Parts: sequence; C-alpha cells; structure tokens
Amino acid sequence: QEQKQPVLISGSTSGIGLAIAHRMAGAGHPVMLHGLMEPAQGAQLQRQFREKYAVECGFSAANIASEEGCAQLVAETREAIGQPSILVNNAGVQFTSQAQDFPTEQWHRIIAINLSAAFFLSRELLPGMRENQWGRIINIASVHGLVASEQKAAYCAAKHGLVGLTKVLALENADFGITANAICPGWVETPLIQPQIEAIAERESLDLEAARIRLIGAKQPLTRATAPEAIGELALYLCGDFANTITGASLPVDGGWSAQ
Ligand code: NAD
Repeated sequence: QEQKQPVLISGSTSGIGLAIAHRMAGAGHPVMLHGLMEPAQGAQLQRQFREKYAVECGFSAANIASEEGCAQLVAETREAIGQPSILVNNAGVQFTSQAQDFPTEQWHRIIAINLSAAFFLSRELLPGMRENQWGRIINIASVHGLVASEQKAAYCAAKHGLVGLTKVLALENADFGITANAICPGWVETPLIQPQIEAIAERESLDLEAARIRLIGAKQPLTRATAPEAIGELALYLCGDFANTITGASLPVDGGWSAQ
C-alpha cells in the first residue's frame, strides 16, 4: 500500500491500544484515538500525536458498550480521518469472580465491550474495505481466547468468542483483499493487570515486584511480561505486504503460556 491507510484503534488512550497507535502513527498512518478519557485530555493526546508524527489524528470518547456507541465511534472516525481500512479491536475490560457469584451486569459489560463491540465495528467498516478490495481487521484477543483460567468466565467467553469471530471474518472476506487475525497476548505490562498484582500482594503479603513475578510465573514459563510496544510491532506487521496471506490466525504472544 503506497498511501498509508487510516487506522481506527478502539481503546487507544491507554496500555496496548496506545502502544499500537504510537507504532501505526510512527509508520505514517493516520490514526483515530479512542477511549474513555476527558475531552480536554483527549485533545491533548491528539495534539501530541500530530506534533510527534505529523499524521492526521482524531479522538473519540464514544462508549462502545452499546451498538449506538460503536456507530458514534465510526461516524466520528470518518469525520476525523476518513474511512478507516484498518480496524484494531482492542478495547477491553476485566472482572474476576467465580462463575457461581458472577454479577449479571459485569457479565453483560464484558461481553458488550470485549466481544460485541468488535462485531459492530467490523460490520460497520467491512463494506468500505470490500469496496476498496483491501482491509485489515486485527482483534486483540488474549491467551484467554485459547485457554481458560479460573475466575474469568465472562472474559474467557468473550475472548474465545472473539477468536471465533476472527475466523468467520477471515473466511467471508478472503476474496476481497481483507485479512482478519487475532493477537493473543499473555501478561502484558499495562494498567489492566495492576489490580491483579495488588490482590496477590495483599493476599500473600508480598511486595509489588514479588507479586508481579508470582502472577506471571503462575502461567508463563517465560516470566517476563510482554511490552505493549511488542504488540504494536506485530499489529503493524499484520498490515504489511508480507502478511497478506496470514488470515484467520490466532497469534499467541504469551511467554509459552498456551504451549503447555
Ligand atoms: P487498558 O485498561 O490499559 O486500556 C483499555 C482501553 O479500553 C482504554 O483506552 C479504555 O478507555 C478503553 N475502554 C474500556 N472500556 C471502554 C468502553 N466502554 N468504551 C470505550 N472505551 C473503553 O487495557 P490493556 O491492558 O491495554 O488491554 C487492551 C486489550 O488487550 C484488552 O482487550 C485486553 O483484554 C487485552 N489483553 C490485555 C492483556 C494484559 O496483560 N494487559 C493481556 C491479554 C489481552
């Protein structure tokens, strides 16, 4: 692709999404930033991106827990950077509890944000990608899209669902120059894992660093958390020409977690 394609990255005000946005903008792609952030802070982030990378950059604070919120995000994206032909479904939330005690509203919230939003955003953007005969859908799933852990009924259900959705999108759009893939990280160094580290520190009377190693080592043979920038690099690779036959794949970046 000679001309750099516009990218929409859901949940890109923090963590993995923000790292993906930096990598995409660094490679010259116009980017749509999105996340639950105050408008003033969002505008500031947008300014930072424009100054640092000299690319088109928009910001939306649409709440994508509903279909309407997803439509709003797409409308604001088209307005700011034009029709995106790269969609990164990254926004996600977590809540942990045994299934028997899992609160109804947390179940619905996790399915809505981690799974349904990816479907609604893909459905909105696929017609444009098919018309252009080019598109990339990158779903940030999780190792929990491939294997399970206790306490994560809704999260595992949503992420396994997202892996399944990715495969269907890959099959249906294979003739249109569109690929759909899932990236399945293990532990990544982001704010999402902080409450889990703090819970272990408190429960086992450990300092935060020891709790961090305990958390990661319980699942990953390789006890280092993945840098968010590594996910950004892989997302960019999936947009490049050499990745044009990678589709329907679920790519673990998990320190060997899912190899066991
Ligand atoms: P994070 O909490 O740092 O960022 C989440 C982003 O999603 C933020 O921008 C937030 O504003 C946005 N968001 C949340 N709810 C939203 C809503 N209702 N409407 C709009 N935006 C919303 O999280 P992260 O750790 O960077 O995770 C990003 C993705 O990677 C998630 O899908 C997560 O499940 C997945 N993941 C994370 C890890 C990890 O270890 N951190 C591992 C595997 C997969």
